[in-house]
Order: sequence, then structure tokens, then C-alpha cells
Amino acid sequence: MKKTAIVIGTGIAGLATILRLLQKGYRVKAFESNDYVGGKITSFHNKGYRWDMGPSLFTMPQYVNELFELFGENPKDHFNYTRKKVLCNYFWEDGTTLSAKSDPSLFVNEVSQTFNVDPMIIAEYLKKSKLKYDLTAPIFLEKSLHRWATYFSFATLKALFNSVHLNLFESLNHHQPTKIKTQETDPVF
Ligand SMILES: Cc1cc2nc3c(=O)[nH]c(=O)nc-3n(C[C@H](O)[C@H](O)[C@H](O)COP(=O)(O)OP(=O)(O)OC[C@H]3O[C@@H](n4cnc5c(N)ncnc54)[C@H](O)[C@@H]3O)c2cc1C
Repeated sequence: MKKTAIVIGTGIAGLATILRLLQKGYRVKAFESNDYVGGKITSFHNKGYRWDMGPSLFTMPQYVNELFELFGENPKDHFNYTRKKVLCNYFWEDGTTLSAKSDPSLFVNEVSQTFNVDPMIIAEYLKKSKLKYDLTAPIFLEKSLHRWATYFSFATLKALFNSVHLNLFESLNHHQPTKIKTQETDPVF
């Protein structure tokens, strides 16, 4: 008889977990306190406009593709997307706007011009962010922290060896390039 697994919450994480458990042969019971699935991935309508309640940017589509592939399906048969040239536009209350381009060099130029910062500073900041991502994603996104093997993996040793680049004991705000104008409020999307 199939073992039953219980999943509490059907946000994107719960849904992905349900699919992975089903693929491993479990029977799955899911519990959700909302009357819809998707968790933060939802929206509401007001005065003719649709408002996202959570994500607007679709980051890391490869992990959604992986869920289709687990069942031998071609993701493109179910789920298609194209990379946009402008990822999103940011608007601040003081009138500043920023159009976030997906092309890294265009993005660097845009930020540099908008905030009057040397493009080299922005490019260096992005380079360091990429290094942090490359060091930590294999551990936090691709492995389970509940397995001892994760802690003794090559990826973990590599991250520890390079921990000086991770700014582990600094806040993001403290770490950001000091020459970038700090905004008192979050951008208004
Ligand atoms: C304003 C905002 C903007 C964001 N923008 C982006 C973006 O642009 N790009 C991006 O990639 N990410 C973005 N994120 C992050 C992204 O939305 C979340 O990381 C992701 O949706 C979290 O999914 P989750 O399944 O972990 O949690 P959730 O979506 O929170 O799902 C948890 C589910 O569990 C249910 N639940 C909780 N407790 C119980 C219980 N006791 N019993 C039954 N059900 C329960 C909840 O009702 C909910 O449905 C944004 C988040 C927010 C809030």
C-alpha cells in the first residue's frame, strides 16, 4: 500500500512538494487554509486594475520546468514564456523611475544614469552578487539542508572556503555600494 504524505500549504513550495512526492509514489493529502491554491501567487481586482499580491517577476523558471520533466513532460507543451527586454519598471515617490533591463550591460547603464553612479561600481556589485549566488545556490536551492551529505559536499566546502566573499555578518543595506543614493521608501511598483 502506498504511504501517505501530508503537505500543509499549497503555495508554490507546497505544490512543488506535492508533485515530487507523487512522483516518488506517495499518496498525498494537502491542507490549505485559503480557498485557493498558489499562496502568495495570487492577485485581486480593484477599479479595473489587476494587482499582484506577491510575485510579479518570474524568477528561476528552470525549477518549474523541472516539475514537468519529473513526469516525462515537455514543459513547453504546457508552459511557455519569453524573456522580456524590460523586466519591470520602478517608480519612486520623488519622481525617480528606473526601467530594469534584462540585458546586464543595459541595466548597468540605466542604474548608473538614474542614480549618477560610476557604472564600474554597479558592474562590480552585480559581479559580487553573482559570485554569492553561485556559491550558495547549489547548497540552499539545489540540496536539502536536512541531509548530512549536504554539509559534507564539495559545494559546501567551496562556499566555506570562499566565505570571505559572502558578507555573512553584514546586512544587505550595509553592504550596498555607498555611492548609490539610498531611498527612504521602497520603490512603488
Ligand atoms: C509582495 C511580494 C512580492 C514578491 N515578488 C516576487 C517576485 O517578483 N519574484 C519572485 O520570484 N518572488 C517574489 N516574491 C516571493 C514569492 O512570492 C514567495 O517566495 C513564494 O510565493 C512563497 O511560496 P511558498 O509556497 O513558500 O509560500 P506561500 O505562497 O506563502 O504559501 C504558503 C501557503 O500555506 C498556507 N498555509 C499556511 N499555514 C497553513 C496552515 N496552518 N494550514 C493550512 N494552510 C496553511 C497559506 O495559506 C499559503 O497558501 C514576492 C513576495 C511578496 C510578498
